[in-house]
Amino acid sequence: MRTVEELQRILQRIDGRGYKAYQELEGAYRFPTWELFIDHVQPDPFAPPSRMRARVPQTVAGFPEELFSERVRRIALEDYLARRVRSAAEHIFRGHRGSGSSGLFLVDAGGQEVLERTAVRITAHWVELRFQLGLPAAGRTVLGRQAEEALCRKLPLLVRQSLLWESTPAEECRRFVQCVENQEFIRRQLRSRGLVAFVADGSILPRRSGISQLPLPNAIPFRSPESLRVTFTLPHPIVHSGSITTSLSGMGIPEGVTLIVGGGYHGKSTLLRALERGVYPHIPGDGREYVVTREDAVKIRAEDGRRVEHVDLSPFIGTLPYGQSTQQFCTENASGSTSQAANILEALEAGSRLLLMDEDTSATNFMVRDARMQALVAKEHEPITPFVDRVRELFERFQVSTILVMGGCGDYLDVADTVILMQDYHAYDATERARQVAAAFPTGRRVESPAPFEQLVPRVLLPESIDPSRGRREFSVEAKSAELLLIGTTPIELWAVEQLVDTSQARAIGYALCVLGERYADGQTPLPELLDQLEQLLDTGGLEALSPFARYGHHPGNLARPRRYEIAAALNRLRTLRMRQRRP
Ligand code: ADP
Ligand code: MG
Repeated sequence: MRTVEELQRILQRIDGRGYKAYQELEGAYRFPTWELFIDHVQPDPFAPPSRMRARVPQTVAGFPEELFSERVRRIALEDYLARRVRSAAEHIFRGHRGSGSSGLFLVDAGGQEVLERTAVRITAHWVELRFQLGLPAAGRTVLGRQAEEALCRKLPLLVRQSLLWESTPAEECRRFVQCVENQEFIRRQLRSRGLVAFVADGSILPRRSGISQLPLPNAIPFRSPESLRVTFTLPHPIVHSGSITTSLSGMGIPEGVTLIVGGGYHGKSTLLRALERGVYPHIPGDGREYVVTREDAVKIRAEDGRRVEHVDLSPFIGTLPYGQSTQQFCTENASGSTSQAANILEALEAGSRLLLMDEDTSATNFMVRDARMQALVAKEHEPITPFVDRVRELFERFQVSTILVMGGCGDYLDVADTVILMQDYHAYDATERARQVAAAFPTGRRVESPAPFEQLVPRVLLPESIDPSRGRREFSVEAKSAELLLIGTTPIELWAVEQLVDTSQARAIGYALCVLGERYADGQTPLPELLDQLEQLLDTGGLEALSPFARYGHHPGNLARPRRYEIAAALNRLRTLRMRQRRP
């Protein structure tokens, strides 16, 4: 391990030379109280900034063990520290100058959700920050003095300000960790209480705009209808309407079929979107930190144009024109209804038992066929079994619950267990009233389910599906955003995978798919078991286990943990995917 003085000497020596001279920096450096690892030096000033790690031993950092002793707490603390680093760096590394990414400091800290990520790692022995720093240049000439300033003065300051317990605001930090732990506590209790989701009184659901996840100022806080109110006793106290308490009340959404009804612009979709994101914990102050949804909830929508690979669509879509069977349905260009059906069947295959749907993003003909259409178009000419005729069966035979926003079609009143009415952004329990209405105004439609929904047909993944090579490079995975991932030369469109919330999750999915293709896909094992294996790898080896860089114990790249449902969703949208059904 080299010393700081050696680092300084190198930088003075290569000052003014070509950018390649920076390569000499790769290696480890001992600072007085911590260590710097320069894992990968960017080849030129316009490439992504160099990957480095700063490791502080716990004898110096001194974080109390109780803040990271359990998995949930550790993930929360790591997430919190990454945010601290980001805000400290905004000041310390402000006003960087030079060509390309010169002097630019990057840490992959999160947004409103708290996710397991690789940016900070904390163990009983050390805290490690994984970051990127643009090595300064003028044109392509090394700026040694600026590099020295960044590495030997700014970086140690950043470490002191954000990676030591003594400089951490203890109260804020504890509250953050405890808030996340409270949320996970509620999530663990949902099943035993027969609930699929919880929305705390006082929650702020709407966001500032269509492109912001920040809370809307002056929004009307959520309040549960009396009849749906449940109370949780939390492990850690919270401040709630001015007093300190461990008891938190709010709306419990029971298992079964739940409708969210109400007039246009009354807050229906806003509630559903909060539930979609409620599968992840949120940061204190988000407004949705106590909106908690069961971890297996999957948002379903129509997505015309997507590819579908050997999915048995027959529970929803029967024989197509000219006798085409849908038992092994493949298409390069699905319609609204077939894409929505495929999305449901794939979510169930991946293990979801809770579907979230919004009329705004559903195919009308998939949702319902009313009495008049039944009279006009004979059943034998309509391949679709509408969702309204399957939704109860899904619950009664497979324990699959559904939460559905439906303001426009009353035919669903017959099949609902719970009806939540949104009016002026307030929630009311309209279950009784909906029953009366359903009895008073029969729809006159016939139930159309030609045959019962059979077991799902297992699909196996063929290993040739995933090819990460690109030109001369053997391995190329690039997440452009949370909506677009590139594996090799193949783009995967993820805009309709709405619960994928972070670009770093998309990146992790890219690596995960490569691991699936390379290590696990054997043309035998059904997809759900492959997902189990992958999750086990992540549980035991951490996200680093996915990374092509971490093999050398290096900066693992910027990764955040995706759920199995989003991994499966990305796989299913891969245009080179090859699957085979294994009918029992
Ligand atoms: P719907 O789906 O019922 O048509 P939305 O959920 O899309 O309605 O909400 C319509 C508008 O109302 C959105 O701009 C949303 O941000 C805003 N909104 C939703 N809930 C609240 C609230 N509690 N307080 C203030 N504004 C809200
Ligand atoms: Mg809406």
